[in-house]
Order: sequence, then structure tokens, then C-alpha cells
Amino acid sequence: MSHDYASRLRSAAEQAEVRGLAGLVVAPGPDLLYLIGYDPPPLERLTALVVRPGTEAVLVVPVLERARAAAGVAHGLIEMQSWPDGEDPYEVVRSIVSPSGRYGVSDRMWGIHLLGLQGTLGNAEFSSASPVLTPLRARKDDAEIDLLRRAAHAADETFRRVTAEPLEGRPEQDVAGSLARELVHAGHDTAAFTIVGSGPNGASPHHEPGQRIIRDDDPVVLDFGGRLGGYYSDITRTVSVGEPSAEVRRVHEIVHEAQEAAFQAVRPGVPAEEVDRAARKVIAGAGYGEAFIHRTGHGIGLEEHEEPYLVEGSTDPLEPGMTFSIEPGIYLEGRFGVRIEDIVAMRADGAVRLNEAPRELTVVH
Ligand code: ZN
Ligand code: ZN
Ligand code: ZN
Repeated sequence: MSHDYASRLRSAAEQAEVRGLAGLVVAPGPDLLYLIGYDPPPLERLTALVVRPGTEAVLVVPVLERARAAAGVAHGLIEMQSWPDGEDPYEVVRSIVSPSGRYGVSDRMWGIHLLGLQGTLGNAEFSSASPVLTPLRARKDDAEIDLLRRAAHAADETFRRVTAEPLEGRPEQDVAGSLARELVHAGHDTAAFTIVGSGPNGASPHHEPGQRIIRDDDPVVLDFGGRLGGYYSDITRTVSVGEPSAEVRRVHEIVHEAQEAAFQAVRPGVPAEEVDRAARKVIAGAGYGEAFIHRTGHGIGLEEHEEPYLVEGSTDPLEPGMTFSIEPGIYLEGRFGVRIEDIVAMRADGAVRLNEAPRELTVVH
């Protein structure tokens, strides 16, 4: 993977300065991965990247992870300062930054580390780094969209393979296991999540797959994704085991129509909430407004859920390079649920779907 980390670091430092910050302090997580391509687990030992305008970024790293960091970060991209066990890592940060500046810290920094920084840098001010980093991360470049497309196609292939096998007579958990296996077979580095909501369980959007045996006549919500080159896939299809009832067919048609209406509403410059309204209008118009119990979509990239959020009140305009889900649903408690989800990428001239699995109600066995 050869993302242009140097230019990402430069943009982050510039934007920090524009927002009146002396710099950013970024802990392990998607922001760190975005800026330097390094993805260590967050730990009680402080790892933090200090980004300041006009000077080289410094990674403060525990001595025992220095080799790991050196192997994970492009040579010459940043400076490294390691600290041994027994020493105060927040003092190391203090020796780098100006003691009374305003710094943006990454959302994923643990409270214990932010408290450590605040304790050591008594005169510094800390705020969220997200106003700086979110707009950068939200506009994907071609290499990122390519990874998201490859992940989406691997998710499509997973759907094809798993629904080619019979679902009837199997516990949800068993089908979830097949999804996880096939996500990796189809090209993901790891499976991330596998929702299998059969029959009444489909009415719980984030149902944890359990021991319920899938039966003939069940609608089944399959919502799953994995990670490929750091980027996530996320797709939902609702299938029918055997011939669907007229009601299931009708509800599926409404959701399908809502998903299409939302997709058609996506254009550069349109506020994110307009896309939510487009989907909601179809579902409410069909009398199921109360049963659409979540936002229409979320951004996706180095995180499964990130900006932009397609929800009422989200007035930020959609811009080329943004990638997000469109996933309306109808949930009828105690009975069944239907959701259809695709990942969509904004181009200069409109939106393209990255998922290509059929959106019509698929009848399986
Ligand atoms: Zn969800
Ligand atoms: Zn999903
Ligand atoms: Zn989603």
C-alpha cells in the first residue's frame, strides 16, 4: 500500500494551523493509520504522534515497540522518540510541544492518556482533532476508493457463496460462521462483523446471531463486512427462505424503492440529511415511517462508521470522494425486518454504487 502519507501529514499540520492549533496529538487508531500507515493496538503504554506545522512529526513510542514502529512506518517519514518503562511518557511529549499551546487530540485517545497529558502540560489546552482530521479522511482519493471497491466486491462474492448453500435448518450462528469464512476467502484480510437476523430476530437491526434455527418462510437479514488493506466493506441483503409471504414481498419492495430513491438523491453539494429524507419519504409514504428506526447511512473507510452521517440535522454537503452506506430498513417487532445496504462513492458527477449484489428479494433454500 503506498498512500501519500507525507502529503497527509502536511495537510493535517496546515489545517491544524488554520484552526488555531499548535498541533495534534494522535493516539493509535484510524487517525494514526491514516496519517502514517501505522496501526498498533492502543495500550496503557503511550504511543502518540505529535504533528506540528512547519516541522517534522514525532512518534513517541515505548522502547519495546520501537522496532515494530520502525517496520510499520515508511523510512524518513517521521522522527521517533522512544521512552523506556519506568519513565514518564507525558514528559517526553512535553519536551516536544510548546507548554502552553492548544492541541487537538484524536477521538480514540484513551482517557488515561489525555489525563496524563493534561496533568503534565498544565498550561496547554486540549480539544478534539476531529475538525482537522475528519474533513481530510472523509474525502477519499482514488487509491482509497479502489480499496473500498475491492472490499465491496469481496462482500458481494461472500453473499453469492453463502446464499448458494441452504440456510434452512441451520442456527444463525452457523450461517454467521460461513459469512466470516467466506469474507476472508473472497479477499478480506479479516472479517469484521456478521449479523444474521432470521424471522423475528430481523426486527433488531444489530441482532447478535444466536441459536435460532432458520426455518422455511423466514426472511433473513444478512449484514456483514470485513477489512481489506485497512478499509471496510459493509453490505446488507434480506433474503427469503422459500417463497415469501405477500407482506414480506411488499415490505421488501418498499425498502428497495427507498434505497433507490436515496441513491438518486445523492449529488455533490446536497446536504447529507436530504438523502435521509429521500429514503424516509418513501417508507413513511407507504405507512411504515415508525418502523424505520435508524439513520439512512454512515461514512465508511478506515472505520466501519465514520463521517458523513446521513441523518436529519446533518447539513454538511456531500462532496466528491466521500464514501458512505445507504441502508434504509423496516423493522416489525416480533415479526421480521428488511434492510438493503450498499456502499456508495461520490464522484464529481454523481454517485456510484460499489456493491453489485442483486437488490431484488433473493429466494434461497
Ligand atoms: Zn448497523
Ligand atoms: Zn451493515
Ligand atoms: Zn452500515
